[in-house]
Amino acid sequence: MNSFEKSLRFGRVSFNLTDIKELLYKEIKTAHNSCSPFYISVRTEYSMYHETLDNYYQNAGRKNKPNKTDYLAYILLLTYTKEQIQKFKEISDMNLDFIKLTKCSSGTTREDVNSDFEIIHANIRADEDLATNFTCICSKPIENIYILKNKYTGILFQVGCDCITPFLI
Ligand SMILES: [Zn+2]
Repeated sequence: MNSFEKSLRFGRVSFNLTDIKELLYKEIKTAHNSCSPFYISVRTEYSMYHETLDNYYQNAGRKNKPNKTDYLAYILLLTYTKEQIQKFKEISDMNLDFIKLTKCSSGTTREDVNSDFEIIHANIRADEDLATNFTCICSKPIENIYILKNKYTGILFQVGCDCITPFLI
């Protein structure tokens, strides 16, 4: 029997959470709007949101551009409600360790580990016949896709293998 703990792989972000809260409050109106083409749950790539963060860095006079971890954290934050974002003091207040999968002869059992997110679909292949560009929320193109859900809002998003880490426990 093999046991895996899965977690979103996450480095240091180069923005200050407090500084971008107003931007997040503004963006979640579109991100959570199921009538919008930019509704996060229906996106297969997230460049529109990444560009917003790029513009924020530029307007703030930052010399660096956001990195993949910044993009990842930014989109994760956008899956929460305004009330939840208001309560966050640090990026680490997001609870990212989300599921324990146990593989045995009869299949795989899953157990929630009290996280804000859960895996809805694991390791599905991007349809190569589609001309669509599939990216992880960190902006990297992906072929093997994990669909995750924010448990509080039901917002769905996709990540690739690089940003989701199975490791033996
Ligand atoms: Zn990624």
